[in-house]
Amino acid sequence: MKTLNNYLAIDEDKQWILSQDQLTHLSKGVIETLFSLGNGTLGTRGTSGYESDITQPECEGTYINGSYIRETIEYDESAYGFAQFNNKMMQAFNTKAIEISSENEVFKPHSIGKRHVNLHQASYHEVLQLHSDSGKEIKLHITRFVCQHQQNMMINHYQIEAVNFSGKLQITSSIRGSDSTSQNSNDPRIGNLSMIDKLHCLESLSTPEYAFLLHQLSDPKSLMIAATSHQFEQKNKHIKISSNSKNVLTEQFEVELTDNKVTFSKYSLYLCPQTLTSNNQQQNAPVDEQALITQAREELLCAKNLGYQENLQLHQQLMNDFWQDSDVIIEGHDQHQLAIRLNMLHLTMSAGKDGQRNIAAKGLTGPGYDGHYFWDSEIYIIPYFIYTQPDVAKSLLSYRFNSLEKAKSRATEMGHEQGALFPWRTISGEECSSFFPAGTAQYHINAAIAYAVRQYFKASDDWQFIWDEGAELVIETARLWPSLGHFNKNNSNRFCIDTVTGPDEYTALVNNNYYTNSMAKIHLSFAIELINKLSVNNESRCNLLLTKLNLSIEELNIWKEIAERMYLPHQAEQNISPQDDSFLDKKPWDFSGTPKDKYPLLLNFHPLVIYRHQVLKQADVILANFLQDDEVDIRLKRNNLAFYEPITTHDSTLSACTHSLAYSETGNHQAAFDYFDDTVLTDLNNLHNNSHYGVHTAAMSGSWMCITQGFAGLRIRDNYASFQPNLPKQWQGLRFKLKLLGCQVELTLCRGQITYQLLSGKQFSLKHYQQDYLLTELEPTLHIAIDED
Ligand code: BGC
Repeated sequence: MKTLNNYLAIDEDKQWILSQDQLTHLSKGVIETLFSLGNGTLGTRGTSGYESDITQPECEGTYINGSYIRETIEYDESAYGFAQFNNKMMQAFNTKAIEISSENEVFKPHSIGKRHVNLHQASYHEVLQLHSDSGKEIKLHITRFVCQHQQNMMINHYQIEAVNFSGKLQITSSIRGSDSTSQNSNDPRIGNLSMIDKLHCLESLSTPEYAFLLHQLSDPKSLMIAATSHQFEQKNKHIKISSNSKNVLTEQFEVELTDNKVTFSKYSLYLCPQTLTSNNQQQNAPVDEQALITQAREELLCAKNLGYQENLQLHQQLMNDFWQDSDVIIEGHDQHQLAIRLNMLHLTMSAGKDGQRNIAAKGLTGPGYDGHYFWDSEIYIIPYFIYTQPDVAKSLLSYRFNSLEKAKSRATEMGHEQGALFPWRTISGEECSSFFPAGTAQYHINAAIAYAVRQYFKASDDWQFIWDEGAELVIETARLWPSLGHFNKNNSNRFCIDTVTGPDEYTALVNNNYYTNSMAKIHLSFAIELINKLSVNNESRCNLLLTKLNLSIEELNIWKEIAERMYLPHQAEQNISPQDDSFLDKKPWDFSGTPKDKYPLLLNFHPLVIYRHQVLKQADVILANFLQDDEVDIRLKRNNLAFYEPITTHDSTLSACTHSLAYSETGNHQAAFDYFDDTVLTDLNNLHNNSHYGVHTAAMSGSWMCITQGFAGLRIRDNYASFQPNLPKQWQGLRFKLKLLGCQVELTLCRGQITYQLLSGKQFSLKHYQQDYLLTELEPTLHIAIDED
């Protein structure tokens, strides 16, 4: 049996380095996406730190998660209840690029530099050879990181080495508004963040100590400041440069080369105070400009006092902690190893960690989908955080709690007497989908949120969260279902839900979407179970909560009846689950007559053409079956897979991972592995041809789910975890850690043996296939031999 590498044997490990040389198959734009860095609040594109011309790279941006600009959605034919406003993620100013000159000659790159990202340190590195027209040569090293320890800060460090001259250098450094992003109006996935015309410059300042541009946003009324400060190791002189643009601030420093070198750091700070919990009135209240400027200056000076090395160390320490808990080791497949680390890194760099921001479908890496949050967060992304960084999972759920009031208003607007309706896509908590058939109609977002609360609670046993926020979220989202459907006399008085859209966006506005109905059933059953648990835990507190929420026994009884009588379509002849009432009657899609270049279908056919056919964009029934877990018979799951897989295009990146999970569960390990491959490499190989506009966070997290919940078969049960591990034959080993049930455990799968190890916590109950085991502090390790044929 082979033993696995230890974690953090990293120094020379190529599997922590994502370098440009490995990415020759990708365009510049995709590489910039992959090289992006972030900390959950700030994210910045992986664009070069040296620009010798002022044209900004396409998609350039430093994004501020949770901050946004609100724009009126223009409809030529509007109607009641249509979403009125779009939110666009805040695209803050670019502070990365510098320019070097000597005696009025600007240095230009010989060629594109050598670049890489160190995944372990979440740092970007670039080495450039520069030359001037008269033959002067310079070598420039750039290191960049977005501080994990200071949510508003990015640091760029520059080391300049003059190869064949001495004297003085002029360093030009700017804060520059981003005005160039992608334009392709036919592709709904590509956002267009360009927002410079929505920002009104109030003040700019450039002093030797620091510089800033302060802008005002009109909707929501707020301020944004981008401030920088430079720290040179050599003597320097600050030269003020006047600029005729309100969106660009340029400074120059004259520095004496010492031992042919100039070294300096540029600290960039971004503040844009917008908070979710504010009601509209507070949000429109003026933010104190002077206080913001003072805060920016103080935070910059504080970072400068620490200095570059100290900041780097603090940042690295947090990254170290992150990898200690989150690393997944794959032996025998270098590409998968690199890809899973890239994916996990982007997840943690994109996820909001303070309950005020969520995680965008494209992370903080590009303008795709205008930086919106979707159900991706709850069904695909939160599972990863639950088991690796539970605090982050909690804060993503708190984000929903903090926008509950908006969801309640939306429910009222949509004609529901009670409850909350969460938006299909949003930043601020308001519905931003301008295409309701594949937007607002996806009511299953409510069930997704409750499902995530359920998962989090099962794994963490975090009663405080449940009392403070979780229960209210589950209840308010649950109480919408009764008014969405009805007991249908023509269907044996079953509870039916009409005119909704399930996850598969190639079928819209249908009756009894299997996914929606089954998730609503799970949601209502869980809500009832949760209230019972709360009552047992603390009856008087539970009564107070129910009184506060005005929840009566009658309402609970209705939920119970709906859950029991929920109609789940079933076709007995083939023993399959129809996706909805009309799906099986539709015309099959002509797959053999559809050339490859006609995919994704959404870019080549009118929605109505697609809706009329039996064709899926992404897993729908298959996803429901996975989430239903052991409530559904395995034969039905297999039949559904056999029926739906051939008619699924996987045009959404959310589809492949679901299929991998479903194949693992039903025992087709080769298919599970193939779909995992499509999932884990979504961005590293740009499989959907749009990573240019940002990574796909759901697929990134989905790749982690394929490993833990697919290959290792992790399921969380009441008070124990069950595993059905199956190491892919293409790999030599797999190792990962999980936090659950108050413990941290590590699984190591090698050929011929699996090891479960209790790393922290008192005791951990597990089921390996059908056998029960207990790990304890005294006996923390369990080896089980595996028979491999
Ligand atoms: C998918 C949605 C998903 C969205 C954002 C769409 O293509 O169909 O299910 O929420 O992308 O990832």
